[in-house]
Amino acid sequence: VKRTNNSEHLTRFTPDLLNVEKTLEIERKIRTALEEDRIYFVLQPQYDISHKLRGFEALARMDDPDGGNISPVEFIPVAEKVGLIDKVDLRVLRKAADFFSRIIKKSDDDITLSVNVSVKHLMKNDFIDEIKDVINSFGIPGSQLEIEITESVMIDSAEKALQCINDIKSLGVKIAIDDFGTGYSSLSYLNKFPADLLKIDKSFIDKMNTSESSKQYVAAIISIGHIMDFEVISEGVEDDQQLEILRDIGCDFIQGYIWGRPLPQEEAELLVLGGSS
Ligand code: C2E
Ligand code: CA
Ligand code: CA
Ligand code: CA
Repeated sequence: VKRTNNSEHLTRFTPDLLNVEKTLEIERKIRTALEEDRIYFVLQPQYDISHKLRGFEALARMDDPDGGNISPVEFIPVAEKVGLIDKVDLRVLRKAADFFSRIIKKSDDDITLSVNVSVKHLMKNDFIDEIKDVINSFGIPGSQLEIEITESVMIDSAEKALQCINDIKSLGVKIAIDDFGTGYSSLSYLNKFPADLLKIDKSFIDKMNTSESSKQYVAAIISIGHIMDFEVISEGVEDDQQLEILRDIGCDFIQGYIWGRPLPQEEAELLVLGGSS
């Protein structure tokens, strides 16, 4: 048995203690924000390659009562860990659906609302009822709603996931595979999943300008995606060079700061309806 001295001990354990405390603090803040109804959403536009609006992705936001806000990169993993993710997802889904239903009544464009759903939440038995309720209460056509799930769904309990996805699809709701390329999905998994859209993760888009192999990788995902009848969107597109590459290699849709940051409702509404209404 290898013995450790005290200082090693400290460096090994102090970060964990800090993490525990940080997690508890964020958990408290999520609970309070849920109680006080302070979880809200912003909408990031998605476009086709010719810059026509496809729709919006709703992204969760939570202000910090101590000032500023807490990034979803921090609070979503905590919500997943402590079993609050269903509540957070649902809050965002219902609020965004409420907004979206009002917008589509005023517009003839067939735009899509995409929402993120944690795999843990998706696997719950009442998830399908929640989606049905959103469609019925807000009067949103299923075909204009899209659920984004990460590709980890394909590895963890694949059978159950497949059933959930088929139930969702039977309502006409679309399925997007989020953060595509970062997980362990193989072609055989992909073949089985009745998803509609592959969402290539930002990390690959980031590297495309400087790395030929990253560019080839993204091109390969798009080719294979198309062969398998998926549409493909790239997330985190920030500059013209990336956009040109994506256009060359046939990417269908673009999401990223180059054409739009996440927006508050009023600005998203202006984007759809224009300044005149
Ligand atoms: P994601 O689903 O991969 O969402 C994309 C993230 O990239 C968002 O960060 C978005 O604001 C950011 N982004 C988009 N375009 C650009 C760009 O051009 N440059 C840069 N630097 N960033 C860009 P955000 O809003 O901080 O969300 C982070 C993650 O938190 C999301 O990653 C998603 O996994 C999770 N999340 C957010 N809202 C929800 C939610 O309501 N439910 C669940 N389960 N997860 C959520
Ligand atoms: Ca309409
Ligand atoms: Ca997403
Ligand atoms: Ca991502």
